[in-house]
Amino acid sequence: MQANIVPDTSLSELTQAHATLKRSFRSGKLRDISYRKLQLAQLAYLLQDNYIAFQESLARDFGKHPLEANIGETGVVFERTLDAINNLDKWLASEDLSHETNPMFSGFKPTLFKQSRGPVMIIGPFNAPILLTLQPLMGAIAAGCPAIIKPSDLTIHTSSLIHTLVHKYLDSDCYRVVMGGVEQVTALLQLKWSSICYTGGAQVGKIVALAAAKQMTHVTLELGGKCPVILDSNVDIDTAARRILWGKMINAGQVCISPDYVLTPRHIQDKFITSLKKAWNEFFPDGALKSPDTGGIINDRHFYRVLSMLQHTKGEIVIGGNADVKRRKLEVTVVKDVQPGDSLLDDEIFGPILAVVPVSDVDEALEYIEGNPEPLAVYVFSQDEAFKTKVRENTISGSLIYNDTFFQLNVAQLPVTGIGASGYGYQGGKYAFETFIHQRPSMDVPVEAEPHLSIRYPPYTQTTYDVLSQGLLQTEVPLPRCQDKLANGKDLLAREAPPPSHQRGVPS
Ligand code: NAD
Repeated sequence: MQANIVPDTSLSELTQAHATLKRSFRSGKLRDISYRKLQLAQLAYLLQDNYIAFQESLARDFGKHPLEANIGETGVVFERTLDAINNLDKWLASEDLSHETNPMFSGFKPTLFKQSRGPVMIIGPFNAPILLTLQPLMGAIAAGCPAIIKPSDLTIHTSSLIHTLVHKYLDSDCYRVVMGGVEQVTALLQLKWSSICYTGGAQVGKIVALAAAKQMTHVTLELGGKCPVILDSNVDIDTAARRILWGKMINAGQVCISPDYVLTPRHIQDKFITSLKKAWNEFFPDGALKSPDTGGIINDRHFYRVLSMLQHTKGEIVIGGNADVKRRKLEVTVVKDVQPGDSLLDDEIFGPILAVVPVSDVDEALEYIEGNPEPLAVYVFSQDEAFKTKVRENTISGSLIYNDTFFQLNVAQLPVTGIGASGYGYQGGKYAFETFIHQRPSMDVPVEAEPHLSIRYPPYTQTTYDVLSQGLLQTEVPLPRCQDKLANGKDLLAREAPPPSHQRGVPS
């Protein structure tokens, strides 16, 4: 099936869609778990029936290879949708906390209910238009939230197909697709949502977060940034090179977790380049431009942005570097001897260029990462556990992956998440569901408990004070008091236990 290009959604249509979603939510039909499961099954059929149409639309939009369409988008959402169907009862089960609370409260049924947040909005980027709209949609359906999705305006064929299929397979009273770009998102942000899941660049992320703040709306921001690789000399360098180059070539580097630059010990830089060349020749025996596996860049603006980064680098291009302007393709390109301040170390590359940055030691690498915005992922290639631990303890990033790149996206149990500049909130698999769920605390205090509760009512007396303050006043802190606030933990724990506490501060 090839969808016709769907025109931009008019602003009045968009407001009507929002009203319809609100009405459907209020009607209570999404509370029915079997309704949600049927909609999830419809989503699974949508993906399975149309995976070839999706491959074709992605190829039209930016030359994405059919294999990458399956393993990086359609197949991932399909698998996780089935997972949601199979586990929905478990995910939605309320949590009985009576065994974890103070025995005084256990008879009051302390419970966490998994409640739908309400109508939600999902805004997607261009680079994985199926994965990054339909996976959050899967989460919304499972959570019982009606949803509007706004796929990227840069992937017109895929977004049109998503529009056509969502309206064909799913209940249009609850799930709608809005076509368009800035104008539509701006209008959507004026409306009240219970949650917004935004995936894209940080610049637009700030616009979304600001608009959401005005309405006190819950937001998930899945942003990008520069993902560094730290290479140790204690490594199988050929394997490392192959895995890094693979992560870089996928979707022509237009992946949020694509390795952006490699901090490599200076003395092994050339050896690493030799291994990268070997891998490059294996991957692209007829050259990267002739290879059908090399994807294109989404549009001219991004194509020339990436080329300009390459033109302005002061590093040395050692692999690739050729471009096919007509097809907006650039060979997977490696640049060595890249120094801090270089054009390749400025913004997120989001294209098929790998910058190799020589450093004296791991401390210099860690210092460089620390001096820059928090990455979405840090990759570490090392066989040395002490080295791995050192990087873990001295970096902050959304995720931390040892000895591979990109592959973490395929593990449903690992969320995609940023920190600081790379965003906040969690996505992927069950996390896509949890984003749209409010864990609503509850208890039910029986009338029969009244005799035990009467002590809390005024007029307050000394007895009330003594009994109800007992926990605060008389419970021992399990660790000794720290006189020297700078002492380290080991010193503290070696000290003797404190003397028994005395009666503390009872007002007269
Ligand atoms: P983008 O920020 O240009 O666009 C994202 C969405 O915002 C699109 O739907 C677009 O129509 C809309 N938009 C664009 N400009 C807008 C404006 N001024 N006002 C309101 N809405 C606007 O992002 P992109 O170029 O499509 O995607 C690439 C970025 O997304 C990269 O930075 C990448 O790292 C990031 N990304 C992050 C993740 C993640 O999971 N963290 C995944 C994929 C991509």
